Amino acid sequence: MNAQEVIELEQSHVLGVYGRAPFVLERGEGSTLYDTEGRAYLDCVAGIAVNALGYHDAGVTQALQAAAATGMLHVSNLYHTAPHARLAALLCESSFADKVHFCNSGAEANEGAFKFARRYGRAHGGEDKVEILAFTNAFHGRTMGALAATPRPKYQDPFKPLMPGVRFAGFNDLASARAQMDDRICAIIVEPIQGEGGVHVATPEFLAGLRRLADEFNALLIYDEVQCGVGRTGSLWAHQGYGDGKDRDAFAPDILTAAKPLAAGLPIGAILMRQRVAEAIHKGDHGSTFAGGPLVTSVAHHVVTRIAQPEFLAAVQAKGKLLHDLLAEINSPHIVEIRGKGLMVGVELDIEAADIVNRGYAEGLILVNAGPNVLRLVPPLVITTAEIHDVVARLTRILHAL
Ligand SMILES: *Cc1c(COP(=O)(O)O)cnc(C)c1O
Repeated sequence: MNAQEVIELEQSHVLGVYGRAPFVLERGEGSTLYDTEGRAYLDCVAGIAVNALGYHDAGVTQALQAAAATGMLHVSNLYHTAPHARLAALLCESSFADKVHFCNSGAEANEGAFKFARRYGRAHGGEDKVEILAFTNAFHGRTMGALAATPRPKYQDPFKPLMPGVRFAGFNDLASARAQMDDRICAIIVEPIQGEGGVHVATPEFLAGLRRLADEFNALLIYDEVQCGVGRTGSLWAHQGYGDGKDRDAFAPDILTAAKPLAAGLPIGAILMRQRVAEAIHKGDHGSTFAGGPLVTSVAHHVVTRIAQPEFLAAVQAKGKLLHDLLAEINSPHIVEIRGKGLMVGVELDIEAADIVNRGYAEGLILVNAGPNVLRLVPPLVITTAEIHDVVARLTRILHAL
């Protein structure tokens, strides 16, 4: 099949909820993807912040092969396996958490977090303590509960009624969050760095303020680190980049959801939680057939071990700074603002970001937007400094040719 035949076959048989780029990808190496015509693309999307270790990583391949060699791709959660136990322990050691529950995606992690928060709220605050506070420009997923906390009419309206009991306040607006709080709120959910909503970084005052508000109203603080977690911002968990290390508790959540990069491209989600949350959840309260199987948890253990190394995280910080600095040197009247942290960068434009994404393909550059006017750069965390120079040179050519 040539590229055109593949594209036509997909268009005939695959539900059209995605607009797809006009080429067919065939293989990847490092931070480069190749299409069926042999064209190379520098990848600044990484499967939407999933392929943190890039393509064809030797360690990932080895972890996959070793796990596959046991013959057990899947084992039910009715049985114990070592990879499942080891990954849970590693995630607890590397975070605020005491317990972990696995699932299969970001949306599913947030659904689970909402269920756990309602269970906890009822146990500690009575029947009515079931409502959730979320924020403007948030993205928490496409399932009915997660969608209810994702305030975008285009995503929500065709699918109403959604899960009731969600309120909204302004992102980075502590006063508006306080105005929404009362004893019926069981949880506040926030992305420390908003991804889909346009790459907006929470201020330290905002996160610390939400922590205090949650405590004051006996509610749980949930961080959705599905996109910004696992090294993306230069610390293993994005919120660990806040404060000076001594005031860790001022920025720590009660629940954290992770997914995208956690297993190098295999589907996984995780809900990390404190002991007091875990104590409110009982046998039979929640579950998933596929979640936490030995293959996916073996690969995730490799990913987290690699990314948690201080040298790896320091390199993400340095490369993130380089990317940010080089972008800031582009002399284009179309750049309104450059935002982000580490290798999660948003470039706000005064034109449609989709136009730049399309022009990128001809320059051998894979880009994605985050909302109509923001170009989002979330390359593999293993991207080299030479490749970062190359990315910015190509983007500069595109902007200057407008
Ligand atoms: C992508 C994303 C989700 C949804 O994850 P899926 O795996 O697509 O369900 C939730 N929250 C954030 C912050 C995300 O970026």
